[in-house]
Amino acid sequence: MSKSIGIDLGTTNSVGAIKKVHTEVLKNAEGDLITPSCVTFKKKKLPFSKPEFVVGKHAVEWMKQDPKNTIMSVKRLMGRNFQDKEIQEIKGTRRLNYEIARHSKGTENSLGIILGGKEFTPEEISSKILGKIRKDSEAVLKDEVEYAVITVPAYFNDKQKHATRTAAALAGLKVRRLLPEPTAAAISFGVDAVRGDEAQTVFIFDFGGGTFDLSVLTISGGQFLEVGKGGDMWLGGEDIDRMLAEYVLGETAKEYNIENITEFIENQDGKRKNRFIGELKDKVEQAKIRLSTEHEAYIEILGVLKDSDKDTVDVDVEVTREQFDEIIAPTVEKTVALTQKMLESIHFTPDLIDKILLVGGSSRIPSVIAALKKEFGDEKVMVHERPMLAIAEGAAILSHRLSDTYECPKCGNDAAQSDTVCNNCRFDLEAYTIEQGVLDIVHSAAHDYYIRLGNDEMHLLVEKNTPLPCEASEVFKLVHSEQKLVHLKFYNIVNEQEESIGDLWLGIEANEKIKKEDRENEPLRMEITLRIDESNLIEVSAALKEHPDIQISKTLSRGKADEKLFLSLEETIVEANRKKYKEYIMLDLTCRSLSAIKDINKVVSEETGEVDEKVYEKASLKTDKARKMASEGRSGRSTIYYAQAALEDFGPAIPPKNKAAIRKNMKRLEDMDENGSYDENVEAIEDLNDMLNRKLGVVNVLMEIQKAGDFCMENNPSKAPKFYQTVENILKAYKKDDSDKAASLIKEIMPEAYGVVKEYEARSTMIYKDITK
Ligand code: ADP
Ligand code: MG
Repeated sequence: MSKSIGIDLGTTNSVGAIKKVHTEVLKNAEGDLITPSCVTFKKKKLPFSKPEFVVGKHAVEWMKQDPKNTIMSVKRLMGRNFQDKEIQEIKGTRRLNYEIARHSKGTENSLGIILGGKEFTPEEISSKILGKIRKDSEAVLKDEVEYAVITVPAYFNDKQKHATRTAAALAGLKVRRLLPEPTAAAISFGVDAVRGDEAQTVFIFDFGGGTFDLSVLTISGGQFLEVGKGGDMWLGGEDIDRMLAEYVLGETAKEYNIENITEFIENQDGKRKNRFIGELKDKVEQAKIRLSTEHEAYIEILGVLKDSDKDTVDVDVEVTREQFDEIIAPTVEKTVALTQKMLESIHFTPDLIDKILLVGGSSRIPSVIAALKKEFGDEKVMVHERPMLAIAEGAAILSHRLSDTYECPKCGNDAAQSDTVCNNCRFDLEAYTIEQGVLDIVHSAAHDYYIRLGNDEMHLLVEKNTPLPCEASEVFKLVHSEQKLVHLKFYNIVNEQEESIGDLWLGIEANEKIKKEDRENEPLRMEITLRIDESNLIEVSAALKEHPDIQISKTLSRGKADEKLFLSLEETIVEANRKKYKEYIMLDLTCRSLSAIKDINKVVSEETGEVDEKVYEKASLKTDKARKMASEGRSGRSTIYYAQAALEDFGPAIPPKNKAAIRKNMKRLEDMDENGSYDENVEAIEDLNDMLNRKLGVVNVLMEIQKAGDFCMENNPSKAPKFYQTVENILKAYKKDDSDKAASLIKEIMPEAYGVVKEYEARSTMIYKDITK
């Protein structure tokens, strides 16, 4: 039976856990409960061997030699835009030892990480961490791990959660739920309210390695409602380490009379410098951890630093708990201030909080606990016994709850979630579940969800706090009866700001089933459905009401390669409408768009979120070609239509040899329209045009007259029969071999026909793609 585990995918550390009878944290291959969220891309020295990823403790070691190709805290980059202020700020600073850039396959906003000269997405890097947790857990469990509940920060938006799910898929994990970290923490504390007693308000104080997250939850009958959140994305144990390191260096400088210790270290030869920086980091962190339980700690780094006379400069500093408290006081004060600020922001006072739950490695620090006790009262502050494992344990408990089957706690036999007693040993599973306080968690929508209509109106589909999963379905109308493209835009409103959650494009191809009558008067109707699952992930679908088989269903992705292509397509269409291109150009652009949409919708795999390079190339060629062809006023499609009409309407007037030649060129152009490069496509258009000019002869003239008739038919029907009749008469004259008669008929009608055709060809249309209510 494949297993379902809980994973805390942390900024600094990641942890996997499983719940059987009790919750058990799963050791990794190194024998540790905690895996540093550190990934390195290690180039193999030997020729022909492949580079490999190393994750965890060994990657942290490797970082000392090769920081440029090692990533710590990739979680900060997940689902972020390259343009985000935070990303631009950390770019090129000391916080980032590796290189980030705009991802070549994505939009302006996509973010790529460069390792060993190769480009990776944050999802790909994160998947390496999940992959290790999975593999190592499988080794402990001696079974396949197929499912996981993965925790995410409460502030993660849809895009960040989506990225997390993609990372899981890449690691071969099926996500049972993305669980907010504070909720996971509350579950692992086993807060009474989770078991359905009275409602409680709890404050989760998660002080980790690089981030500081605060949330207030009200918990009642298994429902967790987020009341407020706060914290600091850039505050954590690392800052405390830095402060302690500065102190240690200061003391050393004093002892040896070194004026500028930073410069002194900078001037050490390369190897020594790196070794010293690495050791300092390790020793300082070890001392800090020691000081959470002991009253003093020593930091010794002997024989590494050398002065200009080649004499060694040893670091040998004692730090007492009192000194430590003083050194880190500014940080502790900051956490308390942020706590107060957060409560104020939701108009809460400390007495409204029933419990304050401390998780995260840095919440072990005694002065942090003391400061919180002072603020909230001793009895309310609960420090988790295993603060760095709490979140994974909460995830494991939910994962167990969500599995279809689990092991009977008494005999170990498989039991279904719906069984009340064990089929094997008759153990009372129901009573056990109740006693264990295993819960049903109700999630609710994090925001309001809207769709944008053609008139720019925002139409509400799902309201904030709607219990999840939920589904909202509504029928809309296209804006035009001839409309072939539909472009749907979905939004959240977050802090009164519109935030796009993604777009959906659907092409309505000329289809046997969409009969002319359907479209004659009324625009088609479209049913649009927005689904939000328990992890707050969104799937949208759209189907024509009258033809439900013309439909599309997708999880929205943003900043990916498909979005880039859709944006380009949108720009081309907007520009074509603005510049009022000729009708036949619009027709061509519509056809090219339909074909491109089909491919673009297949660029990103629904399963894994990965980009299919081949499909991307094809779709990208089509979008580029659509733009260029339209702006240069070229149209393959209308040339084909023209040839087709000529063959159908005037077939008998064209010699069979010419017909065959025309057909061959038509076929080639069709192929080039679909698959050819821009140049090949242009050449095929020109060849067919050329051939039509040469081989159709008088049929070209007849086509002009007929076109005039068709145009009048639409706009001024009484004038049409004259043109149609003349065409008949000319054909008759030719049949009788009376070419003089034919010539005179042509001469007579042509000025008028040309006038009408000119007017016709000057016409422009719009390409419609909106919907309305
Ligand atoms: P994250 O959620 O960011 O992945 P964790 O909750 O795993 O982080 O916390 C990691 C941080 O906790 C590190 O900075 C580590 O040094 C610190 N830490 C771990 N144990 C202790 C301890 N006993 N006392 C103080 N800090 C600790
Ligand atoms: Mg954490």
